[in-house]
Amino acid sequence: MFMGIEKTEHDWQFYTEKHDKYCRSFKNGCYWPRGRMVGGSHAINALIYFRGNREDFDNWARLGNPTWDYDSVLEYFKKTERNLNQTLVNKGNKKWHGDEGAMPVGHYGGSDNIRHVFIEAAKEFGYDLVDDLNDDVTLGFTYLQGTVKDGQRFTTAKSLLVPAKDRKNLHIIKHAHVTKVIVDAYNTVTGVEFTYKNEHKLDVRAKKEVILSAGAVSTPQLLMLSGIGPKEHLKQSGIPVIKDLPVGKNLQDHVIAPILFQFHKSTAVAESIIDQLDDLYQYAIHRSGPLAGIGTINLAGLINSENHTGFPDIEMQCFDFRKGSLVLEKGLRTLGYSENVIEAFVGANAEGEVNNVYVELLRPESTGEILLKSANPFDAPRIIPNYFEKEEDIKTLVRGIQYITSFLDSKSFKEHEGELVRIVFDDCDKFEYRSYDYWKCYLSHMGTTVYHPVGTCKMSDTDEDAVVDSELRVKGIKGLRVIDASVMPKIVSANTNAATIMIGEKGSDFIKSTWQKKTDKTEL
Ligand SMILES: Cc1cc2nc3c(=O)[nH]c(=O)nc-3n(C[C@H](O)[C@H](O)[C@H](O)COP(=O)(O)OP(=O)(O)OC[C@H]3O[C@@H](n4cnc5c(N)ncnc54)[C@H](O)[C@@H]3O)c2cc1C
Repeated sequence: MFMGIEKTEHDWQFYTEKHDKYCRSFKNGCYWPRGRMVGGSHAINALIYFRGNREDFDNWARLGNPTWDYDSVLEYFKKTERNLNQTLVNKGNKKWHGDEGAMPVGHYGGSDNIRHVFIEAAKEFGYDLVDDLNDDVTLGFTYLQGTVKDGQRFTTAKSLLVPAKDRKNLHIIKHAHVTKVIVDAYNTVTGVEFTYKNEHKLDVRAKKEVILSAGAVSTPQLLMLSGIGPKEHLKQSGIPVIKDLPVGKNLQDHVIAPILFQFHKSTAVAESIIDQLDDLYQYAIHRSGPLAGIGTINLAGLINSENHTGFPDIEMQCFDFRKGSLVLEKGLRTLGYSENVIEAFVGANAEGEVNNVYVELLRPESTGEILLKSANPFDAPRIIPNYFEKEEDIKTLVRGIQYITSFLDSKSFKEHEGELVRIVFDDCDKFEYRSYDYWKCYLSHMGTTVYHPVGTCKMSDTDEDAVVDSELRVKGIKGLRVIDASVMPKIVSANTNAATIMIGEKGSDFIKSTWQKKTDKTEL
């Protein structure tokens, strides 16, 4: 988070001038409109690189996607990856990691005072510190891997598109808001309509096929705007139905419960402006120090809260703040927390170091949906997440909370004055503190997204509720594929970016094999 946003304007200016006729033909040059970004969410995300569990992908295969089992997708994870940790790469003779791909994967810079407190407590409560959770070790705590190198962000745009800038068959149009997929009378997609700089209506035509990669929220919106979606909902929205498909259903996301701990009340020294200047200096000169990390303790855990077997159901991510942090309150306000939550966090932080642990539900049973707000492509769609619709999700998350709060009894927490910070919610205080009902009530106030929506155009050859087949082609429509997080039939039990990049790599092979069969040309 602190490593700076992509220099999109600068990076892409040259690109636009060279290749983008629409941009060239307008005098004002190019600007970067809010909400539309080359590289997508990867340009603003925390860059954490967790692939998911073997069982996630083997389950995708069982759900009607024969080539998506773990052994088949592993090669695509490795293909994009340039893992910078040679020990991990050489382990098992490159069985788990690639080191020749375009995307650097390394460890975050920065450190903090508290991570060893959690590592020791985890050991006391059954989980070791492991060097890699992207191989066959599936549970434990680990120093996070991210798409980072030398304290700098690397995204899909920077790693894959910038090196491809001289390709003749790649054109990027900035400031283009796609409004519709064009489908002809034979249900064949022939191109897309878009609005350039919010005023010029244009279209591009496709000779072979159109690929939608607008993400799990916007891809279903675009399909529905184009007449591909649930019949009744399209009719209600005044959109002529071209193909009745359950687009937008099956929305899955990872919901989190932030749990706050305080440490070192009697000894912590408050952060000062000088500390911040030191951090800036360290980052500017050496690309190291706290600003080379993501503001976390760079430590995460995958646990199975039920039976401690190898398929995790909870992830822990631990965000550390020095005493008197100068950024905590601003961050909390940006996230939209209410005043009593902000007061509790900032109050605890005025007295000592705090650590905000995100307890993340990895395998939710509840599903939500994306609906159109209107037929206007500039109206954001309605996101109905339905978190906690199923009691099972609450039970799992509460088990995760109970696991992390059990650290309060560890020798390690006691040595470091580890305490749970109580946030006052009047309606929860009628329950016994830290009981199941108390945490259930707590979740109704504190449960929130960690921005991992997937599944709204799920793939399967056999499931009638699927939107695309296992080669990602939209069912009943010719010349249209979806390649993004929306095709996941079930959310992976890890952060979703690495699996989405894998989907991109595998999807590109489907395109190549389709068209190389049909043509001798090597343009693909
Ligand atoms: C704040 C945040 C933090 C996250 N942190 C992590 C993390 O640390 N690790 C991790 O693994 N995952 C993380 N994620 C999730 C991860 O980034 C996503 O799962 C992944 O990027 C999804 O990729 P996608 O291609 O499906 O969609 P997106 O990344 O959303 O890309 C969709 C693209 O389509 C564009 N688009 C949408 N509609 C239109 C339109 N109508 N016309 C033109 N363009 C359009 C968008 O601007 C965007 O560029 C995070 C997400 C967020 C938002």
